[in-house]
Amino acid sequence: MFVDVAEILVRAGRGGNGAVAFHREKYVPAGGPDGGDGGAGGDVVLVVDDNMSTLMDFKYKRKYVAPNGEDGRGARCFGKGGKPLVIRVPRGTLVKDKATGALLADMSETERFVAAKGGRGGWGNSHFATPTRQAPRFAKAGQEGEERQITLELKLLADVGLIGFPNVGKSTLLSIVSAARPKIANYHFTTLVPNLGIVSLGDANDHMSFAMADIPGLIEGASDGAGLGIDFLRHVERCRLLIHVVDVAGSEGRNPIEDFEQINSELFLYSEELASRPQIVAANKTDLLEDEETYERFVQHCESYGYPVFRISAATTEGVQALMNETGAKLRELPPIKVFEPDPIVVEEDPDEPMFTIERDEDGVYVVSGKKLMTSIAMVDPDDYESLNYMQRVLRTAGVFERLEEMGINEGDTVSINNFEFEYVR
Ligand code: GDP
Ligand code: MG
Repeated sequence: MFVDVAEILVRAGRGGNGAVAFHREKYVPAGGPDGGDGGAGGDVVLVVDDNMSTLMDFKYKRKYVAPNGEDGRGARCFGKGGKPLVIRVPRGTLVKDKATGALLADMSETERFVAAKGGRGGWGNSHFATPTRQAPRFAKAGQEGEERQITLELKLLADVGLIGFPNVGKSTLLSIVSAARPKIANYHFTTLVPNLGIVSLGDANDHMSFAMADIPGLIEGASDGAGLGIDFLRHVERCRLLIHVVDVAGSEGRNPIEDFEQINSELFLYSEELASRPQIVAANKTDLLEDEETYERFVQHCESYGYPVFRISAATTEGVQALMNETGAKLRELPPIKVFEPDPIVVEEDPDEPMFTIERDEDGVYVVSGKKLMTSIAMVDPDDYESLNYMQRVLRTAGVFERLEEMGINEGDTVSINNFEFEYVR
């Protein structure tokens, strides 16, 4: 099975800061605190899109950053929350944490997964007013949004299957729709696995890609019962559309109408359902075509079944782009087929980051650090008595003092937090 892999960075938005503000009004000398809260940062959310079948888009864009929340303002104005950033992925995509390899989500049945959670907005100072503390000069900073490097993995299945007799030009066709764009040539499957190619259409604004497989084993193998591996069957099941390649020049001495009929009847014997999938006929080798009359009869024959015919030459590439455009347009219309293989890996949650850590530096100073704790006290004003009281409460609740005692701190020792130092008193 071919596995498509992409690595991306997801970063959720930072929460907005809470505001420190005081009510101001003419003739009101000292208004109360009215700083509003910051808005929450936007999440980065993965959503299943059944119309996608490759991870091609992630080769070009690797960094996904959701917007920050807005800061709170005076007059209790809350900051606006950042909008979630939605990333569409094909069904069946496995989402893994790049650092640990842990499976975070299996987008087979999960339709939506928050890959990075936005930071909470900070509280404005209006929250901190109490009867004894009427003018809090501090507010809480917004929290950082989560950020992580994730790996997306998808077992690639073909949307389009190429069918036809041997030597009609299936492999040639597949190789030129890949070679037509150098970025496809770089795509490693086209070199590693020559019978599966990624076709990319359109530009950055209106882009689509699909997987196309040359399935030579189908007819040749179906008649003698050989060559049909399980991987192959899964590809066939997934194919939403078949391109039936016919050598209309009869370069090997066969008649194109008979070829076409024979392949379709073998297809029908192999799988009625597959035979009922839409077909586009690629009338190939037209550069060698001598008998226009036979060709016209062939076209009418196919059209009598309702199959569109594209006149192409895989050798000169004439008509191939039109064929691919029609294939892309058809795929957009056709209902997606849900074929995927849930992965049995157990989800391993990352251990929660500790609130804080304490280390002693060479001068014996107790240095308290930790992103989570620092966020809670980032806006504390060391010159403000109320503000310091608030910080002390935060430190006590978080268990900082308890830990310091455990570490054997003595009265008068120095503690350093967030670039400011104080003497420890019990
Ligand atoms: P497959 O067996 O269906 O995969 O056929 P291949 O792609 O291997 O092609 C068989 C042969 O036909 C090769 O020698 C190709 O170069 C040749 N061929 C394929 N398409 C064309 C075409 O449009 N014109 C000509 N003149 N030769 C072609
Ligand atoms: Mg071939």
